[in-house]
Amino acid sequence: MTSYVPPKRPIPVPDDLTRGFWEAAGRGVLAVQHCDDCNFYTHPPRTLCGGCGSPAVAWKDVSGKGKIYSWAVMRMQSVQGFEQSVPYCTLLVELDEQPKLLLAGYLPGEGEGLSIGAPVEVFFEDIEGSDLKLPNFRLVK
Ligand SMILES: [Zn+2]
Repeated sequence: MTSYVPPKRPIPVPDDLTRGFWEAAGRGVLAVQHCDDCNFYTHPPRTLCGGCGSPAVAWKDVSGKGKIYSWAVMRMQSVQGFEQSVPYCTLLVELDEQPKLLLAGYLPGEGEGLSIGAPVEVFFEDIEGSDLKLPNFRLVK
């Protein structure tokens, strides 16, 4: 029997483009870049709106609720920092705010109970060696 080893995650380095995401996460809120001109959400953040190209983008708090868009079990020890944490699942979560507004998540194990379309919600994890909080997703029971 093996025991679970949490991954050694890289420490994010917020910059002008991502600072709003990390500041919101520190408040326990998920925020996504939003366009004031066309109402489109863009993630990962960019300097221009992913919908219309406008520079009028700003951080907007979102619900943190969504559904599993896709997921995969990682069994190979090929990702630095995650070598001792296999098996684990990478998730793509589609937020309720917009079709194909996708964020990534991580769950330990073989994906028990996961299915495409299953409802999930955000939660925030500590990042070892940092004061930042990492948004992640878990199944809604
Ligand atoms: Zn736009």
